[in-house]
Amino acid sequence: MRLEGKIAVITGTAGGIGRATALRFAEEGAAIVGADVTEVANNETASLVQQAGGTMISVTVDVTNSDSVAAMITTAEQHFGRVDILFNNAGVMLAGDDDAITTSDEIIDRTLSINVKGVIYCCRHGIPALRRAGGGSIINTASFVASLGAATPQIAYTASKGAVLSLTRELAVIHAREGIRVNALSPGPLQTEMLMSFLDTEEKRQRRLVHVPMGRFGQASEMANAALFLASDESSYMTGANLQVDGGLTAAYVTPEG
Ligand code: NAD
Repeated sequence: MRLEGKIAVITGTAGGIGRATALRFAEEGAAIVGADVTEVANNETASLVQQAGGTMISVTVDVTNSDSVAAMITTAEQHFGRVDILFNNAGVMLAGDDDAITTSDEIIDRTLSINVKGVIYCCRHGIPALRRAGGGSIINTASFVASLGAATPQIAYTASKGAVLSLTRELAVIHAREGIRVNALSPGPLQTEMLMSFLDTEEKRQRRLVHVPMGRFGQASEMANAALFLASDESSYMTGANLQVDGGLTAAYVTPEG
């Protein structure tokens, strides 16, 4: 098994990528601390992991609150003895996020608070735990929008994911000699609740797929497999990288559909 005996803290495990990753990591032998602000759905994830023969405790966390994040890490260490993997995956894409002229202060502040400050808080409290464990792997979920601009803007979300990418590089450099690797995972457009509720008609979905060389949306399970590689020792010489798992989207200029 690829994560035998490892302890993984994953945020955003109530659904989507986080839930798929909790299931995948557990399948590979990791014990999971799954953390989310949404308690009921997160408990469901823990049940699913347990039904599949894995181990997960669910923790309620608000990543915008430093004390809450500190408590998440403390719970992980008290329960399992240490933390080896930290997957900072919780994030939001809010309705009303538009261009620089129309997007409200509230949307900007909330998006940056969850998507950027949340990742920094997880690193603030998670890095000392990884040090105590003698090293480990941090994965931060960015997005293809950190690398490409869109004429259908979500300015706060895009800015937040650009920040995740740049802070990932910096943390990777700072902590490289402590055996702590820090990489970003940039998913392409996925068939998850987050994106499908935004692209709420078939026409909008097809319009988006024109830009994806593979011509389909990705699955949360495909992100879980990419996160598994970054979490495991198989990626032992990778740090500060941005793993783009996007059906070829960021490689494309003209796609097969033109
Ligand atoms: P999702 O909405 O299913 O998962 C996000 C999770 O984060 C939710 O369970 C939510 O409850 C949790 N969360 C939100 N605010 C929180 C807070 N303050 N504290 C703790 N948890 C909080 O969506 P997903 O698609 O699985 O997204 C996971 C990550 O992937 C996000 O960072 C997202 O930006 C990124 N992403 C998604 C796509 C896509 O197409 N779905 C593409 C690129 C990047």
